[in-house]
Amino acid sequence: MSASKTPAPASSTPAGPDKAVSPRRLIEKLSPVSGAKLGDFPVADEAEVAAAVARARAAFPGWRDTPLATRVELLGRVKQVLAEHGEHYARKISEDTGKPTFEATVTEIGAVPLLLDYMLRRAPVLLRRRKVPTPIVLPGKAGFIEHFPRGVVGIISPWNFPFQLAVAPVLSALIGGNTVVLKQSEITPIVAGVVADLFSRIGLPAGVVEIVHGDGSTGAALTRAEVDMLFFTGSVATGRKVMAAAAQRPIPVELELGGKDAMIVCADANLERAAEAAVWGSLVNCGQACVSVERIFVVDAIHDRFVEMVRERVAKVTVGGPEEQADMGPLTSAAQLGIVERHVNSAVAAGAKLVFGGERLQREGQFFAPTLLTGVTPEMEIFREETFGPVLPVIRVRDEDEAVRLANASEYGLAGSVWTRDIDKGLRLASRLESGQVSINDVIQSVGHPALPFGGVRSSGIGRYHGDEGILAFMNTRGIMVDRGWLNQEPLWFPYAGKVSHGFELLKGIAGSSLGSLVKGFLGLRKKMTRPK
Ligand code: NAD
Repeated sequence: MSASKTPAPASSTPAGPDKAVSPRRLIEKLSPVSGAKLGDFPVADEAEVAAAVARARAAFPGWRDTPLATRVELLGRVKQVLAEHGEHYARKISEDTGKPTFEATVTEIGAVPLLLDYMLRRAPVLLRRRKVPTPIVLPGKAGFIEHFPRGVVGIISPWNFPFQLAVAPVLSALIGGNTVVLKQSEITPIVAGVVADLFSRIGLPAGVVEIVHGDGSTGAALTRAEVDMLFFTGSVATGRKVMAAAAQRPIPVELELGGKDAMIVCADANLERAAEAAVWGSLVNCGQACVSVERIFVVDAIHDRFVEMVRERVAKVTVGGPEEQADMGPLTSAAQLGIVERHVNSAVAAGAKLVFGGERLQREGQFFAPTLLTGVTPEMEIFREETFGPVLPVIRVRDEDEAVRLANASEYGLAGSVWTRDIDKGLRLASRLESGQVSINDVIQSVGHPALPFGGVRSSGIGRYHGDEGILAFMNTRGIMVDRGWLNQEPLWFPYAGKVSHGFELLKGIAGSSLGSLVKGFLGLRKKMTRPK
């Protein structure tokens, strides 16, 4: 692997033949916990991105033609590296994001070997050429489907799960024989270095994974570069730009964007469990998960009791930096803190009731109190826009039908959950939710189920990864038809003279599913197959 060194805090000029030019632009990284400076990190420019893509392009044929078994063996080494260095990586993730080290270990790093195991097992099955049934109207033919890699994949990742959301798509692309240029978020440059370290340890051929460090300008440069596919995880606003750039070429694009996930609590739910889940699902990673619980719909019959159960639990959530072993850390990005504050204040101004929290904590760092709001209504910004913070907005609904209707009244459709002891009813409600994933009596953890496809509908995105679809998302599909080539002629080929009535007969056979007409039509055509001398 090349160009994927840790983005060491730097003050250097760009490497390369023209290094005498202007100094390299740097990003300053501050600790979300203390505000202390953690370093300055370099921003790759357009030329560096183009060079990385060129290296990945040069490496592509070799990696594509590497036997799948070898690719499986090489990528399997990721697990050994994680077993050996996972603890160190988790601490670095916590330092960069402020998230609890337990979360960094389990939800960030732990998700990777689980998904990798699945991919390494499934890829040999999925990527094998397979025969498909051939209709009898195509006698003598056989159909096959095979997959081949798209080429160089540009992957752009966000800061909220900076390890998992970079490593998982990279591995998904590599297993099928693609090479990758990865651009991670400028908000978490320390994790960008961790990811680079991981890939430098597994002994991939040079150029198979190229990592470019930088900000939005670096990402934009990657979308303009000569890549064959773009895989983007991040905000809707940036997703639009990525898709517009992909349209210029045009190349396939997969977008994994934001969410406004609904949790529907039915009267017959295990309320203890639902209350625990509402708190964890809204506050895990300080609410900065694309699949965070962002709207809690509670049916009238149990609303007040449920809110009280949730309030008791929210009050017990501890907040602090990774060193404090708290349940919840700070917001990773300073800008996000402002959005959370705005959503909460505007909801309260519009009539929502603040049951708990609602303000920044009086301490250093980007901490916001776990916040419980009731009386949230569809007109409020907090109902419509992604908050991405530690807030539980509760919406009282008459019944489950109203809950489903309001849950679907959203620009987003990423995930959601239904809470009931009646699993059949839960499944029926799940099927009515317009989202890419739904859990019954659980939250968020479905993302970690390696066989389940993941992705959104509406503004939550386009395409799926994880599961079988996550391998095939990075592949082109080729259909192959084989004829043994024994006949000199085909019924459909020239000459057409005298064939019209047999063609009608054939159509009757196909459209009317009539074997008799089919045979008659074919025999007629066979007689006309030889060219008159
Ligand atoms: P963002 O869109 O600000 O940035 C994402 C990445 O895009 C970063 O690496 C950034 O540098 C890069 N970027 C910025 N401008 C660019 C441009 N013009 N062209 C190309 N790349 C550019 O998103 P974020 O704030 O890092 O992430 C948070 C968002 O991501 C939330 O909306 C969240 O819901 C969403 N998200 C979605 C998923 C999912 O799987 N669906 C997962 C995690 C986060």
